[in-house]
Amino acid sequence: MKLFFSVLSALLIVLLLVSGMAARRSQKPIGKYVTLLNLSLLFPLIGSLLTDNTHDKFIATAGCYLYFIGLNLVLLALMQFAVEYCKNSGTGHKIPKAVYAILGIDIAQLLLNPFFKHAFRMEEAVMPDGIFYRMIPHLGQIFHRIVDYGIFGAILLVFIVMSVRMPNIYKERYSVIAYTMIFAGIWQAFCLSANSPVDHATIGFGLGGIIVFYFSLWYRPLKLLDRMLSDIISEMPGEALFLFDPNGRCIWANELGCQITEVRDENFELTENSLVKRFGEAVRNHGEWSDKTTVQTETELKYYTLESHRFTDEKDRLTGSYLRIRDITKEQMEIRKGIYEATHDSLTGLYTREYLYQNISEISQSFRERQYLIIFVDIKNFKIVNDVFGNEFGDYTLQCIAEWVRKDMSEYCRYGRLIGDTFGVCIPASEFSPEELEETLSNFIIRKENTTYQLLIHLGVYKIQPDDDDVSVMFDRAHLALSTIQDEYKTHIAYYNKEIREKLLWNQKISSQLGEAIRTREVRPYLQPIADRQGNIVGAEALARWIHPEHGFMSPALFIPVFEKNGMIAEVDKHIWRCACEILSRWHKGNRNLFISVNISPKDFYFIDVITEIKNLVNEFQIPPALLRIEITETVMMSEAEDRMQILEDFRKSGFIVEMDDFGSGYSSLNMLKDMPVDVLKIDMKFLGKTGDADKAKTIVKNIIHLSEELGISALTEGVETKEQYQILSQMGCSLFQGYYFAKPLPLEDFEKLL
Ligand code: C2E
Ligand code: MG
Ligand code: MG
Repeated sequence: MKLFFSVLSALLIVLLLVSGMAARRSQKPIGKYVTLLNLSLLFPLIGSLLTDNTHDKFIATAGCYLYFIGLNLVLLALMQFAVEYCKNSGTGHKIPKAVYAILGIDIAQLLLNPFFKHAFRMEEAVMPDGIFYRMIPHLGQIFHRIVDYGIFGAILLVFIVMSVRMPNIYKERYSVIAYTMIFAGIWQAFCLSANSPVDHATIGFGLGGIIVFYFSLWYRPLKLLDRMLSDIISEMPGEALFLFDPNGRCIWANELGCQITEVRDENFELTENSLVKRFGEAVRNHGEWSDKTTVQTETELKYYTLESHRFTDEKDRLTGSYLRIRDITKEQMEIRKGIYEATHDSLTGLYTREYLYQNISEISQSFRERQYLIIFVDIKNFKIVNDVFGNEFGDYTLQCIAEWVRKDMSEYCRYGRLIGDTFGVCIPASEFSPEELEETLSNFIIRKENTTYQLLIHLGVYKIQPDDDDVSVMFDRAHLALSTIQDEYKTHIAYYNKEIREKLLWNQKISSQLGEAIRTREVRPYLQPIADRQGNIVGAEALARWIHPEHGFMSPALFIPVFEKNGMIAEVDKHIWRCACEILSRWHKGNRNLFISVNISPKDFYFIDVITEIKNLVNEFQIPPALLRIEITETVMMSEAEDRMQILEDFRKSGFIVEMDDFGSGYSSLNMLKDMPVDVLKIDMKFLGKTGDADKAKTIVKNIIHLSEELGISALTEGVETKEQYQILSQMGCSLFQGYYFAKPLPLEDFEKLL
């Protein structure tokens, strides 16, 4: 028995020494304190081993001192260990100074024992194998025990309190130390009370030291780790997780995994089949892969990502695998919503222009197999709809048109809203029935509550050519076709054709040549004489002509409308005005006081300061303003009427004579005459026409002439072609005449010869 304990003690001494050294090498801060504790434990263990195994009284006594003083060192080390061990729990323990003092006093009184014999004495014990010595305690020893038990108890209390206070998963850390101390304490008490000649109490301390070493340095709280990890993955939002063993059997699934597979009560053997049923055979593969998939449930289509990974050990042997399934339905819906909003018009739900173009491009390979048409749908005067009936009705109108566009479209058609009040369609030619469409468009009525409005819709059609590839160009062409519609209420569909293309090319050509043509005077005025009642030429109208090096003589009909559209008309007009002034200045100097009328396009007012321009010219050429007559048409008054009126007044105040051109040919109303500050009314004979009741026409002209007379405006008739017309008009009171009857517009030299 004694031998057994001695061997055990020796073994513990070696173990403590080894663990003490190992703890020293540990990186953890606690290592130092474990080393101190385990090395201090060597003193009582060696002391007790000596006392128990010697026949020599001195050695036995020395062993006792080693034991008692060593125990105080052990308590000192244990206290410091406890402080460090509990440090991270948030409770800041500190060792009271009094404790050091008491331990110091105890060591001192023990060391004084040889002199006063107050602590203990050694007594002979006769055993079967010889004489041994055992310690007989005195008062000092009792003091020593009170001190040691007191401190030991206090440290134990700290560990008990910690293990009670800490959350469950951390309890273990503290309770293990507390149990170890309780065991060592009880064992000590038991050994003392047994009053055996040999003291085995130190065995408990030694074991305690080893346990402390293990728990503070080596032990990894796997249960804690387990709990933490499973908590993390159980609560991973939107993520179902399945763990499989190396044979592919499911061994665990988190909450969401169980919900998806509807596997309850950890019946994980059912998991795989349920997964296969939902996500297909692929989930049987437990290798490395990922995939996206959709699942149609009773109520909705769900989107998932699947991801499988393998676990291997350090030798790369398969230890298991896991499958992550993420429900991405919400994100997918968001993405789809975003795509929808970006590609569809919010008001009508039709494709946006960009998306329509993209869609048409995508079917472009079928342009070779099938004839397709591009249709540009244009609502005329849509602004009026908004303006008169309000935006709500306007929106409703657009929705009705979208509905009409959408109706009867086959899978081969593509259609969308281009912008504002225009829509675009790409349709196989075989599905296009113009007669039916004309019929619909001739009576396209929008009704909402008490409001009805007949819409005017025009369709521009372009036939796609096999090698066409730019969708926007195709729509531009379909759009251009619209410009050919003459009678906009009768015809609703116009086709892009070669002429339109040629006209476009023509426009481009002459526009690019205009600057040079003005500089070289290829563009120049022809003069058409204006005669008085006696037949004398009193003036002329300057009419632009272009003597083109390639196309020869060009009448203004070939270029004026083009430049009126693109704004270059102002360049032409400024040039003609300048030429007219040059001629006038020459005539004026030669005492030939004829006037020249120049045309002013309504568009000029948008591009130049007309009045300043003209005033500068008469100043530059030093001619009386009355010689340069200003011809305007009533369309000038169509916009900004007040401003324009002001300009005309200004002209008149400055001495110019203002003529109202083409009276009767347009929309001129007699009413306008009273407000228009003009001096001459140019009545266009064309207005009377070749057909109809000639007598009635005469009556009208006669009365217009009378009316103008009464308003103080003199009358000039243009387009006078016959002597008869000239005579009748003279009788009616007309004072000036212009027309082929006198002469056609002539080059300057011819005109001057005529004079
Ligand atoms: P407009 O100012 O009314 O000019 C009169 C037009 O009637 C001229 O046509 C003239 O040749 C034509 N004409 C004159 N007498 C007769 C006749 O007895 N019978 C017929 N059937 N026609 C006659 P033109 O020169 O072809 O000019 C057409 C229009 O082009 C002009 O009409 C004018 O609006 C515009 N235009 C001509 N030159 C210029 C210009 O330099 N600047 C601007 N802005 N417009 C111009
Ligand atoms: Mg004119
Ligand atoms: Mg005219």
